[in-house]
Amino acid sequence: MFGEHGICAVCRRRPVERWCDYVISYDNSLVLFRDYKSFVEINRSNQYETCDLPMCKECAINVSIDRDLCPYHMSLHRKVKLPDDYQQRRQGHEKVKMFREATNQ
Ligand SMILES: [Zn+2]
Ligand SMILES: [Zn+2]
Repeated sequence: MFGEHGICAVCRRRPVERWCDYVISYDNSLVLFRDYKSFVEINRSNQYETCDLPMCKECAINVSIDRDLCPYHMSLHRKVKLPDDYQQRRQGHEKVKMFREATNQ
């Protein structure tokens, strides 16, 4: 009665229609990427593991096109931004630098 995917793991009431896309584990090669280019390359192939918690439409939180999070990982996702001003600036500088290096090659 709940279709091929069974029952939602959050509310346990409705059929599963979404899976959590939160990345819970990265392949080592992805963490130790050398530059922005290889980071993009490796990201294109699914070298990471996602949460995959099965949920219904109501419990899944849609964060962008084709990307849904479970309630627990949504609470982590809200903390993704660095709380420290100095670290935020450093992060921004590095992103600009990496982008420039990648596009100038
Ligand atoms: Zn649900
Ligand atoms: Zn999750």
